[in-house]
Amino acid sequence: MNRQNHFQVAGASLAGDLDSIAIGDEIHGIAAEIYPICRSITGNGVRRTLQALKRHLPLVVHEIPSGTQVFDWVVPPEWNIREAYIANSAGERIVDFRHNNLHVLSYSVPVHARLSLEQLKKHIHTLPEQPALIPYRTSYYAEQWGFCMAHEQLAKLPDGLYEVHIDSSLEEGSLTYGEYLHRGALREEVLLSAHICHPSLANDNCSGVALLAALARRIVRMRTRYSYRFLFAPGTIGAITWLARSEHAVRRIHHGLVLSCLGDAGGPTYKRSRRGDAAIDRTMAYLLKGVGGAKVIDFTPLGYDERQFCSPGFNLPMGSFQRSQHGSFPEYHTSADDLDFIRPEHLADSYRVIAAALQILEQDCKPRNLMPKCEPQLGRRGLYAMIGGKDSAAKTKALLWVLNMADGTHCMLDIAERSDLPFALIAEAARLLEAHGLVKRC
Ligand code: ZN
Repeated sequence: MNRQNHFQVAGASLAGDLDSIAIGDEIHGIAAEIYPICRSITGNGVRRTLQALKRHLPLVVHEIPSGTQVFDWVVPPEWNIREAYIANSAGERIVDFRHNNLHVLSYSVPVHARLSLEQLKKHIHTLPEQPALIPYRTSYYAEQWGFCMAHEQLAKLPDGLYEVHIDSSLEEGSLTYGEYLHRGALREEVLLSAHICHPSLANDNCSGVALLAALARRIVRMRTRYSYRFLFAPGTIGAITWLARSEHAVRRIHHGLVLSCLGDAGGPTYKRSRRGDAAIDRTMAYLLKGVGGAKVIDFTPLGYDERQFCSPGFNLPMGSFQRSQHGSFPEYHTSADDLDFIRPEHLADSYRVIAAALQILEQDCKPRNLMPKCEPQLGRRGLYAMIGGKDSAAKTKALLWVLNMADGTHCMLDIAERSDLPFALIAEAARLLEAHGLVKRC
């Protein structure tokens, strides 16, 4: 196959033709579509989210029954919620799930009771340090109920009787995840994953899901070298479930990224895979080198689903890409992580980095110089004439670097790093040299 066609098409469609505002607005728009939905690790919120994504890409939705054993875990009962409020003695709803779905402790069991303020407070979560914000809290594996609210509101509540009502259900059902496999020329896959279990939180959840959807809707139309697997699954239990059901497919994963927190003004931050030297690790480090604010950090078994993908039994070559690291920004897991907190320009910047990384992975190979004894005569082949123009000096350098390092052991990323030339220039030089029979791209 002609790799040139593949990666050129991929490159142009993924990044080249898009102005930053357009793609950022598009991703923000998808995030806004799914932001209001009350998601959790199971239930109709996940299904509605996947239905919304189906408008952008041909997702396959899987339902895994409650009680299914997945490695050391069991798929939990399915949680759904219809209504929840706290009312004061006058019957006025002072906290209402309809106004903000963060108000309910995720996985709350149903309750309908009248309580004193003292008793009520045992079930209330607030952020005394950020008194105007509602926290996001979950209780997936311990049966309890609770509400989350602004600390300043709680502090003003008078003594009295309060009615609490949570109309939820925890029943045998299933865990839902969505998957789309785009088939490329190779069976080897790039796995791109975003968690899909947080309710109305824009950066930590919607941004990663929306960016992946925008990326997938382009890749759907493209011819690529690698196959691309897009996974939208609940955090932790969803990734564990997918891995347990997909062990046969895991060996085909050659590269991957876990994506979240892609729309804030911080970072960007790349966290290496557990391996530390995977092609994706080197590619991301190359792209972020010299970028203001960018950080490349080592793997830790903390964070998102890289914890599962990089567990020792899998040890997949997957890193994690964020702007601000999860937990490091004050809006994290609060009502301030809203649609104003994520900005189109930051989403577009995140998209460009990811698209550029995929472009490098698509193109990279270890070229071999077919005439390695001394330099071939480039002038006689018209190669100097072909590389005229304003970048001619850099283009000449790229030809000489490729010829020199193309011994079959160095990949084009090695050559780009060593020469300090843009990867695209090295790739173009290798293509030109191959067209003249001087280099073979493996
Ligand atoms: Zn989170």
